[in-house]
Amino acid sequence: MDKDELGECQIRDGVIVPLSKGRPVHPLLVLEAAKDLPRPADPDLPSAFAKLADGDESAICDFFVRYGLLGFMHYVDVQEAERRGVYDPKKPGEPVRWVLTHSKNVEMILRLVAELDHPTELKKIICSMTVSESGVASVEWRAPRRGTCAVSTVSEHVGDCRSTAVTIAANALRQNLGGTQRSVSTQKTDDGWRLKTEFIPRTLLDWIYWLLADAVTAQRVRICANARCKRPFIVTHERETYCPPAWGMKGVSPCMNRDKVRRARKKRSALGLGRKGIRAKVIARRLGEDLATVRGWLRRRSFRGRRPG
Ligand SMILES: [Zn+2]
Repeated sequence: MDKDELGECQIRDGVIVPLSKGRPVHPLLVLEAAKDLPRPADPDLPSAFAKLADGDESAICDFFVRYGLLGFMHYVDVQEAERRGVYDPKKPGEPVRWVLTHSKNVEMILRLVAELDHPTELKKIICSMTVSESGVASVEWRAPRRGTCAVSTVSEHVGDCRSTAVTIAANALRQNLGGTQRSVSTQKTDDGWRLKTEFIPRTLLDWIYWLLADAVTAQRVRICANARCKRPFIVTHERETYCPPAWGMKGVSPCMNRDKVRRARKKRSALGLGRKGIRAKVIARRLGEDLATVRGWLRRRSFRGRRPG
């Protein structure tokens, strides 16, 4: 089967089923067809995957059409999964529950690392994961391990927020990195033959965790500046502050565009209120904007002679 024949997928009874020309295809055939293809070159792939954590079915289908199957069939002990009731061989596909568990895990790792230098936000996350038993506090999180559908709950004693965050991120990553092999190949260059190291991920999920490990160890993760998004993403250049457009899409970040439109609307409202003589402090409170920004807007307009706030 040609990989190009795959263009759709469908979610049926909690299972993602790949389709070819409108008919279900066994996922092993799909994985076999994709085996020799290069892995998607999108550095932001882990954050695109993390966005599925909301459970939106159309977003899940879009992701699978864009990037392919994650590789559940390569990990799973079919009999064991069948016994646990998470897999039915008569309905082959990738269980949505399994996909979401990994997506949430990737989201958690990205968010913890993105907030490492923001103590207030980091504290909020760690507090939300902290449980206290008999006066002893520990953090708990659900940890998927590659092919397992059932996640175990892992507990760590709470240290300071930063050390707790990196410990969680390291543990959650470590147990999902086992699928990538290192190999060495030969390469002919202008200077002659040389050795080249290669990392070969077996599945798309292995590739996601591999890219994620690279991004978080280099701390190339940020929270989107759009207040309505605030999702973590992987930065590819220093000045990036918004989620990038989806892989293969041209143009600027949709999050940046939406933020620009929203801010222009707020600025117009602020100027309108300013013209009525309302003080900057009141405007800022009313619009939910910070005072310095509102003062800046008013100062640049024709309110000279009037105190902005
Ligand atoms: Zn965003």
